[in-house]
This record gives sequence, C-alpha cells and structure tokens, in this order.
Amino acid sequence: QSAVHDVIVIGAGAAGLHCAATAAKRGRRVLVLDHAKQAGKKVLISGGGRCNFTNMYASPENYLSENPHFCKSALSRYTQWDFIGLVNDYGIAYHEKTLGQLFCDNSAKDIVNMLMQECSKHGAHVQLRTEVLSVEHSADGYFVKTSQGLLQAEKIVVACGGLSMPKLGATPLGYQLAEQFGHRIVPVRAGLVPFTLHEADKQRYAELSGLSVDVVASNQRASFKEAMLFTHRGVSGPSMLQISSYWHPGESIEVNLLPQDDVFAQLNELRQSRPRMSLRTAVQEWFPKRLALTLCEQYQWPDKNLADCNNALLQQVADTLHQWPLKPNGTEGYRTAEVTLGGVDTNEVSSKTMESRLQPGLYFIGEVLDVTGWLGGYNFQWAWSSGWVCGESL
Ligand code: FAD
Repeated sequence: QSAVHDVIVIGAGAAGLHCAATAAKRGRRVLVLDHAKQAGKKVLISGGGRCNFTNMYASPENYLSENPHFCKSALSRYTQWDFIGLVNDYGIAYHEKTLGQLFCDNSAKDIVNMLMQECSKHGAHVQLRTEVLSVEHSADGYFVKTSQGLLQAEKIVVACGGLSMPKLGATPLGYQLAEQFGHRIVPVRAGLVPFTLHEADKQRYAELSGLSVDVVASNQRASFKEAMLFTHRGVSGPSMLQISSYWHPGESIEVNLLPQDDVFAQLNELRQSRPRMSLRTAVQEWFPKRLALTLCEQYQWPDKNLADCNNALLQQVADTLHQWPLKPNGTEGYRTAEVTLGGVDTNEVSSKTMESRLQPGLYFIGEVLDVTGWLGGYNFQWAWSSGWVCGESL
C-alpha cells in the first residue's frame, strides 16, 4: 500500500484540478483521482469546444442557491480577474463573445493543458482511470477505496460535480458521500436545460426548428434578455436555458417576442400610414414569415386590412406578442442539461474554506455544492473560486 497523501481530491474537473494545483503550490502532497481517461472532460466540450471560462461581470447575483450569501466570500477572494491573470500568464488567447463571456480563441484544450501544467509544476499528481468506490473515515484518517486499490489521506476534497451529462462521466458519488457524513442535500434537478413542449405546441412549432428570435423571457423569479431558439423538441437558446434554472414543473413562462418595439403604437401608426396593409403582412414586418404565419394561425388573427382592425384587436395582437405565454411540458433533463441545481447544503459547509462543518477534513467544491451559476462562464468561475479558497486552506 502506498504512502499517506495529505489530500486526495475526487474529480479531475475544473474545481478539482484548480484546487489541487493551489494546495500543491503550498507544499501539500496532493493526489487527484478521476474515473475518466481524460482530465477536464466538461471543460473540453464546454462553450462549443472553446470554453467560456469566466465572465467579466461575475458577481454573487449570478448564482442560485438556498443560501445566496454563501458564494460571496470565495468569489471575492478569487475573482474572475485572478483567473484571467492565470490565463494571461499562459499566453492563452481569448475574446469576449457577448455579455462579458470570455472564450478561448483556439480551443478549450488550452485551459485543460494550463490546469494540468499547474498541477505538474507544483507536484500534484493526477491519476486517471481510477473510479472512487467509497470513502471511510477512522482515527488514522480517510481510506479511499478505488478501482485501483485502497488509498489513504488526511483530507478529502469532493470535487466530483453534478449529474448533468452522464455520458461525460457524471455520477452521484459526491451527493452519496455528503449524505454518508450526515450532510443534507438540497433536492437536485437539471438546470440550463432546453424545454420540451406539449404535443400540440410541439407540432405547431416543429417547422420553426432552427429559427432564433431575440426575446425577454421572464417569470416571477427572473428575467433574461437573450435569444430563443426553436428546436424540433421544443425551445432552447440562451434565454430559455437561463430561465429553465428558475422554472418549476407546471409553470408558464412569459416571453416578450418584441422587447424593443411598442407593438400597439406601431400597428396604430401603420393603420394610418398604410391602411390597406393586411394585419398578417404587418406581423411579418417583425418576424420571419414562418413564425409570423404560425402566430397568426394560432391566435386566429383575421386576414384583413389594418383599416378594418379595431383598437381591441390591435391591442390583443400587441399583448400576445409582448406577453407570449409559453407552457413547457418539461425539460430535456440531465441528458442535455449544462448543470445540476441543488446539491450539498451550503449551511453545513464553511464559505471560507469549503470544509464540512460536520466532518473535519472533508471538503466540497464546485458543482456538487448547492451553488449554480447562470449561463455565461459563471459556473466555471464558481469552480475556480471554490477550488482556490479550498486549496488555500488545505
Ligand atoms: P466537473 O467538471 O463535472 O468534474 C467532476 C469530475 O469528477 C469529472 O471529471 C468526473 O469524471 C469525476 N467523477 C465523477 N464521479 C467520479 C467517481 N465516482 N470516481 C472518480 N471520478 C469521478 N460552465 C461555464 O462556466 N462555461 C461554459 O462554457 C460551460 N459549458 C458547458 C457545456 C456543457 C455541455 C456542460 C455539460 C456544462 C458546461 N458548463 C459550463 C458547466 C461546467 O462544465 C460545470 O459547472 C463545471 O465543469 C463544474 O466543475 P466541477 O469541477 O465541479 O465538476
């Protein structure tokens, strides 16, 4: 049996690798374990292969958690600018795509290579193809049973992420370990995930698949001004992914299809300037023809000249386009979700060190915690921030 490690980090993902390098830099003997053949698989496929590695405007308001204060300390001690500094040190080229979202110019591989180099530079060992089966604690420390044998460490960092994309190697191990040591799990569900629609809507919008519209999607909890994309299963695109994290089954979402326009005022004007224009043609001025016709048919707007449309009808059209009611049937679930909402209850974890308040020497970082970011680089920033503060305290 091999030596006792100071720290075993379970999961060579974004949080685990950054934590391991940080702790190793401070002289800790760190071993990172992952069952995958490759480290940082989610980083590699993220952002369409270019990794949206942080957001220039990241702040605690961009995170969902039962305890919205928990993320504040880590995010302020290791900020997006700290991570950008590291990226700059490695000469990795990047650009802002939109809304403060920073992407690699070349490839997400640049980020994984950087994390791996930081680990090797500081002497953190990353052992792949090693599944963690169980963790036990005794007076001699922690014993980690793996597919490659039994390992021993003084401290354990649980960095094995959430449940989204099981194809990429997601497992419930993090939640199971937390529960084993007495932690409460805030109920988990898929977040940043496309919506599916009820059969009638699915059929109605099926031929709009691939069409994208800039909208404001809202419910009583949040509002996002970004694109919406019709898919062959339902609706997706950034605005839908964002609002999905704030959505509960059975609820409706209000979509402003024309947030920049005052539809009633514009229809009123058109009625005066071009009275012989048909209502359907007027709607086509705003949208691609396919969408305009689908909406006209769905709401049975008459095919008559604007001159013959009364104010009540124009108001009805305006209200529908500004508050288009969308009732999802469900979501596509963990199969395509970018993140898992919920997770290890943060009230039982120190926000300064990420150490369990129930079990000394046990730490939780990254997505396994009940901290979930918006779409746009916020989730990786949480992985870097929580990983770094933990690494500093180990
Ligand atoms: P992970 O990165 O998931 O790492 C967990 C690791 O634990 C994995 O390597 C896994 O193999 C390992 N593991 C699990 N169980 C075991 C076990 N039993 N034994 C051994 N190892 C185990 N966020 C952004 O900020 N920007 C983006 O552009 C972005 N794009 C995304 C695109 C997709 C398709 C997906 C799915 C997610 C994306 N995210 C993005 C979210 C982001 O990837 C995650 O929030 C982030 O990776 C979480 O980091 P983590 O280290 O906590 O977990």
